Amino acid sequence: MEQELIQTIVDFFKDNERQGPGCEEATLRALGLVGDSNYFEHILDIGCGTGAQTMILAQKTNAQVFAVDLLADFLEVLKERATWWGVQDRITTHKAAMEDLPFQKEFFDVIWSEGAIYHIGFEKGLRQWRELLKRRGYLVVSEISWMSKERPRDLTDYWTTSYPEIDLVSNKMKLIEDCGYFPIGCFALPDVGWDNYYHPVIKQIALSIGQVLTGSIKKSFLETIIEELVIYQRYREFYNYVFYVMQKK
Ligand code: SAH
Repeated sequence: MEQELIQTIVDFFKDNERQGPGCEEATLRALGLVGDSNYFEHILDIGCGTGAQTMILAQKTNAQVFAVDLLADFLEVLKERATWWGVQDRITTHKAAMEDLPFQKEFFDVIWSEGAIYHIGFEKGLRQWRELLKRRGYLVVSEISWMSKERPRDLTDYWTTSYPEIDLVSNKMKLIEDCGYFPIGCFALPDVGWDNYYHPVIKQIALSIGQVLTGSIKKSFLETIIEELVIYQRYREFYNYVFYVMQKK
């Protein structure tokens, strides 16, 4: 990715609580679906961003949490947050690509990834990350999914262009089984998870709008974000982030 675009993304998202839709309630609900979290030794948080979910994982388990992201600036904010939460000893940060993770096989009790697996693709992520899990280890991911079979045409076109793997929950569940996991459960993100994401985004749009004429990359980035926001306002009942909790077979 071009340096200027990376910087634009960092500037836009760094100070936001999270870089994708999500909420504490959903993270805790998913954590409640994985076995006895007191016994976990190692948790991998892929595409951790500035660590909204990482803090909860460190606080609610006894595990060492390995937080991975491609962007060093996000990891710096995450480290500051960990200190503030008093969990800095339980979290290590790793600047790495989710397609090429620097960890040994069968090391993790749990792999977690909120609002990030679309970067590698749902199926590829499930297949590749599986080998890093211990036997009967858990994978928890949130993934954009259709809430309805019947949908407006322009919405379907928008999402299949942005992310061709968007699909119905039933098809995702089938894929989970095909990739060598037992599906434990799934649930859709409550509205507050989208508000947590979009409220700071709307604030950032307002703050950025005066600067956009100075750079075409900034301008097209902002247009992409606004287009996504408009789609959400019009069609939110047709799609959602869904948490999928599964266990390695
Ligand atoms: N889990 C966080 C962030 C979600 S946004 C939250 O819910 O708030 C997706 C994150 O994935 C961003 O922080 C982005 O920098 C990171 N990312 C994007 N592509 C990546 C890749 N190839 N490898 C690792 N991280 C990546």
